[in-house]
Amino acid sequence: MNYTEDQIRNNPEVRKKILVQAITQWGGKPQEDMAIEESSEFIKALMKLRRSNSLTAKKCLLELADEIADLEIMLEQMKILHEMHEPVENIKVFKLKRLLDRLNS
Ligand SMILES: [Mg+2]
Repeated sequence: MNYTEDQIRNNPEVRKKILVQAITQWGGKPQEDMAIEESSEFIKALMKLRRSNSLTAKKCLLELADEIADLEIMLEQMKILHEMHEPVENIKVFKLKRLLDRLNS
């Protein structure tokens, strides 16, 4: 199947189909490995940004954006693979509420 950038940007179902295809085509375990790898790349990019200076900061920010995108794609696949959308959403709401309570206390 092929989709336009516009479809990918605006249609959550299209995004889900692409992620499901990745899991189906390459397998759950390899995608878990990729999620682990992308997690470490995100950590590395954040460390590089923290060590950057005025000359390197812009490049480091672009690299961080790239790694955030990679990681979000893999996290979305992990939620699909382990059927976790609902529990993750519920936990996020609970934790955001707790955070808000702490911020307001
Ligand atoms: Mg990456």
